[in-house]
Amino acid sequence: FIIPDFAALQLEILAIYEGLRGVDEGQVADYIPQLGRVDPEKFGIALCTVDGQRFAAGDAQSVFCVQSVCKPINYCLALEQHGAEQVHRHVGREPSGRGFNELTLNSEGLPHNPMINSGAIMCCSLLRPSWEMADRFDHVAETWRKLAGGEAVGFNNAVYLSERRTADRNFALGYFMREHNAFPDGTDLTETLEFYFQCCSIEVDARSLSVVAASLANGGVNPLTRERIFSADTVRKCLSLMSSCGMYDYSGEFAFTIGLPAKSGVSGGLMIVVPGVMGICVWSPRLDALGNSVRGVAFCKDLVNRFNFHVYDSL
Ligand code: GLN
Repeated sequence: FIIPDFAALQLEILAIYEGLRGVDEGQVADYIPQLGRVDPEKFGIALCTVDGQRFAAGDAQSVFCVQSVCKPINYCLALEQHGAEQVHRHVGREPSGRGFNELTLNSEGLPHNPMINSGAIMCCSLLRPSWEMADRFDHVAETWRKLAGGEAVGFNNAVYLSERRTADRNFALGYFMREHNAFPDGTDLTETLEFYFQCCSIEVDARSLSVVAASLANGGVNPLTRERIFSADTVRKCLSLMSSCGMYDYSGEFAFTIGLPAKSGVSGGLMIVVPGVMGICVWSPRLDALGNSVRGVAFCKDLVNRFNFHVYDSL
């Protein structure tokens, strides 16, 4: 086993979980009305190792929307479809140093990276644009199901409708990018945005998201089904950008203190990858000012204090 003393790991994770249950700082995101109705006390943790050992605590089987956690998956799909050269004609790979939905592009008039809204909207425009919307969505949802090994993956229509109705900023980002000719020729902007909102409204639970993270930790092969979903090269590129850009404008600090590729979403979901070891999901809806789950970030700090999981701990 990759983690020989799994029982000891479980006890430590449980202790971290118990220690963070009382943390009540932060605010549930409410700029998408439907997200504001989530119980702020929810708290679930799950992990899955690359050889399939699993552990979960708390609300690990309550569903939530992936929100920005869809971004790395869509980036992987875009890479698999087009290759990196083509994808990066439309989206950069530098941290933006700005908030996740700020109206800003890089000096070439492109979104800074695929892990913020503009870049994620761009990746959506690249995914099977000639297909029917239904088939494009199926393509993404099917990939999520494979990454989760067939476990809980759904869709929250109310969140989708709610986000679509209140999406002025994302529409603004879309028009801003179109003004700069950033999209591939023939892109239908409204469809692209609707597709993006649909991807954000895919629903998982902490257990299934930990398997998705474990599939990334395992280089693109699902540890439970042994199915290869992404090439190792695709995952390597995705994890690199998660390391530098996955935590919005906290990414630099996160890379320094935690040293693990991760991706957060405004629903309070956080997917953490310990490459070659395991995938972890923490879900707790209260967010800090930058949009990251307060307990999620605190969990990561406790994790690297107790274990040598920081990528440079081996030095
Ligand atoms: N759907 C959200 C948005 O576009 C996702 C953002 C996020 O999770 N940070 O605003």
